[in-house]
Amino acid sequence: MRPLILSLIATFCAAMTSSAEVKKAPFGKLPDGKEVDIYTLSNAKGMTVKIMNYGAIITEIHVPDKSGKTVDVALGFDDLQGYLDGHPYFGAIVGRVANRIGKGTFTLDGTTYKLATNNGPNALHGGKVGFDKKLWQAAIVNGKEPSVSFTYISPDMEEGYPGTLGVTVIYTLTDDNALRIDYRATTGKATPVNLTQHSYFNLAGHDAGDILAHEIMIAADEYTPSDATLLPTGKIESVKGTPLDFTKSTAIGQRIKDIKADPAGYDHNFVLRVGKESPYLAAVVKDPKSGRVMKVMTSEPGVQFYTGNFLDGKNKGKGGAVYKQYGGFCLEAQHYPDSVNQPKFPTVILKPGETYRQTTIYQFSAE
Ligand code: BGC
Repeated sequence: MRPLILSLIATFCAAMTSSAEVKKAPFGKLPDGKEVDIYTLSNAKGMTVKIMNYGAIITEIHVPDKSGKTVDVALGFDDLQGYLDGHPYFGAIVGRVANRIGKGTFTLDGTTYKLATNNGPNALHGGKVGFDKKLWQAAIVNGKEPSVSFTYISPDMEEGYPGTLGVTVIYTLTDDNALRIDYRATTGKATPVNLTQHSYFNLAGHDAGDILAHEIMIAADEYTPSDATLLPTGKIESVKGTPLDFTKSTAIGQRIKDIKADPAGYDHNFVLRVGKESPYLAAVVKDPKSGRVMKVMTSEPGVQFYTGNFLDGKNKGKGGAVYKQYGGFCLEAQHYPDSVNQPKFPTVILKPGETYRQTTIYQFSAE
């Protein structure tokens, strides 16, 4: 009897180690000939996540529903070329400064810096060639959970930002179906840093149409109103009585057309209720049909809720999927947009000797 039990335990342990692992495979070549690799993280609960070292981009997130049916909930492309052809930051790490900087300029310690204005009059998501378009250095992290780290050294004055910035992003898939993202950065000179993850999710499947029936709760009583160019006015206002009140779970589509923007839709920074313990709850999203739920926790003071308003069907995605308006949503944990020009917002300035730290968790379940 004993040998049988021992051999069962051994088989179980082998299954555990072989399912909770990281696999590396080639994913293509950049125009300069550099190789891009893709890392597959899988756990014993049936979740699989794929991430490549170009842009530290998450290309696939496979999540089971309550019957065990697994679909890929992340918008993206089948091959590297799809990403090189241009896309709105699908799955990417965005930096050095995510979101908008007004008129692409800021002043720090008496020096005025000029950035590329790549979004109307403003700078967006780190510039023309942001961190989403860089080849990162990847390393499999040894530990009990599948984990990969991506490191990028951004040179002094890259995209107009001062200081050499060393950035490491660690993705870990936990045993309770959470994708945990830990960020660290250090700098040689004072510089703004605001990193985020820009995955587009559709909990019914990346190719399942729009996300308007998904229900969302955002743990925010306030938001940062913005002007017609989506730049914060500097005010912080209550969500009460507005279509931005998601303090109680509400279908995304219920009030989306009440948003006075062109195109209509959510593209707002929510001021999170900062919890005593970090990371704290930022949002919970549920697809009522499949029962898939995604809970977002973060150490950041804000989250940009974006409903893919600008998706126009031009990006041909995985398996020929056509990503149309509202085909996916993003929950980009971040410091508030344009913080570098808004003295009342929490600072994004990182100084030499300090370490930038950020943790965001996307946890999946089904009910
Ligand atoms: C921005 C949107 C933008 C999207 C893709 C979001 O973070 O807030 O306005 O269209 O990223 O670039």
